Amino acid sequence: MDSFDIVIIGAGPAGLFAACQAARLQARTVLLESGDEAGRKLLLTGKGRCNFTQEGLSAQNLQEAFGPKGRFLHSGLAAFGPEAIRRFFDERGLPSVVERGKRVFPARGDARSVRDLLLSEASKRGVRLLTRCPVRALAAEGGAIVAAETDSGPVRGKAFIVATGGCSYPRTGSTGDGFRWARDLAIDVVPPRPSIVPIRTAEPWSHGLNGQILKNVGLTLVRNGRRLEDRFGEMQFTPFGVSGPIAMDLSRAVGTALEKGGTVRLAIDLKPALNAEKLEARIQRDLDKLRRRPVGALLAGLLPRALISPVAQEAGLEKEKPLQGFTREERKNLVATLKELPLTPTGLLGFDWALVTAGGVSLKALDPRTLRAKAWRNLHFAGEVIDLDGPTGGYNLQICWSTAYLAGLAAARSARG
Ligand SMILES: Cc1cc2nc3c(=O)[nH]c(=O)nc-3n(C[C@H](O)[C@H](O)[C@H](O)COP(=O)(O)OP(=O)(O)OC[C@H]3O[C@@H](n4cnc5c(N)ncnc54)[C@H](O)[C@@H]3O)c2cc1C
Repeated sequence: MDSFDIVIIGAGPAGLFAACQAARLQARTVLLESGDEAGRKLLLTGKGRCNFTQEGLSAQNLQEAFGPKGRFLHSGLAAFGPEAIRRFFDERGLPSVVERGKRVFPARGDARSVRDLLLSEASKRGVRLLTRCPVRALAAEGGAIVAAETDSGPVRGKAFIVATGGCSYPRTGSTGDGFRWARDLAIDVVPPRPSIVPIRTAEPWSHGLNGQILKNVGLTLVRNGRRLEDRFGEMQFTPFGVSGPIAMDLSRAVGTALEKGGTVRLAIDLKPALNAEKLEARIQRDLDKLRRRPVGALLAGLLPRALISPVAQEAGLEKEKPLQGFTREERKNLVATLKELPLTPTGLLGFDWALVTAGGVSLKALDPRTLRAKAWRNLHFAGEVIDLDGPTGGYNLQICWSTAYLAGLAAARSARG
């Protein structure tokens, strides 16, 4: 096979975007992809609509979004942040819109339009894309990578970018190869863990509510009585526990809390718009109106039908009992249950269901301005293969754009000598 300036492994968003950047500097670039098409995971993003960045994310508010590791992204976001990727798409005929939670989507509402634009841009710049071309290993000599080993022989290059993704959704091609190669090259890899993933819960009632969606609720993670994190929005019950945006978003913290041990629980706030006092006053008004009706009628005015039995049980109420004689203690118990319906997390679903992989190539092993492995003079990493992950909302694709931008340009510059 030919020899190239830049060899990029993995044609997901990070690999495609790095290829566009490298080729922009006239580097002869090849993109090696194991699957039969580029960007299979990209096509699934944002439920097929591709939430490709988060408006307002900047080098200044990194910590909020990514925690302490966010500092690493400072150069990447300063060089190529959300505005830059929106402009990149806009200038090529793909304007975007900002939706709830500052999530940015292509106005056309179609992930395919993003994937196809990246493919067309790469092709215009002369990038050679080889699909059905799994890379088996990286060959190294004297502190540099010399070739990517494929079934059709070695692909030689002056600089290499590994953009093989993590281990999540392996059916889209990301099977953790980049982690294995990094370890083989003595580059530290933080053990990969599933993140943004459904949570298993112990309570049989929660499994029985499979499919039930709760909108505008609060979800809080509590460990040893301390409230650690909370979210507000939509969640969904599944046959094994809970999923949906706020549960998925809390999953990383839930995983960490379970690893640490102690008493870990989740609390659903079914009435986040009302504090306990206001909720109690509202219940009292309902009681005054419904005096001759059973407890179930009071609950029906407060809850979706599927939740009436679990809430009644948790609050120690009998649905059939008449409301006459509803005690102050019962009212207080009901308020407490509506504000903190408890669930016991027992674990997370695996990589098959995780939207992203936490962990990956250690940030300490990489130069944040070039994404080059410090120990190898021509090996760069981009995208999810790096130990960086964010919450839902377009943060994870922004990691791809920012890291791929720096890696693509740096690799092209180093290949030119
Ligand atoms: C269902 C779903 C929805 C999501 N929605 C969003 C969203 O709306 N917004 C957001 O910001 N993030 C979202 N994410 C996360 C986002 O998709 C990923 O963070 C992103 O795709 C990572 O890009 P990447 O290029 O690093 O890796 P990937 O997209 O995983 O691409 C890696 C590529 O490398 C190829 N590859 C792997 N090993 C080899 C090898 N040995 N040889 C050759 N090729 C190889 C793979 O086939 C694959 O094409 C979502 C994820 C999922 C699963």
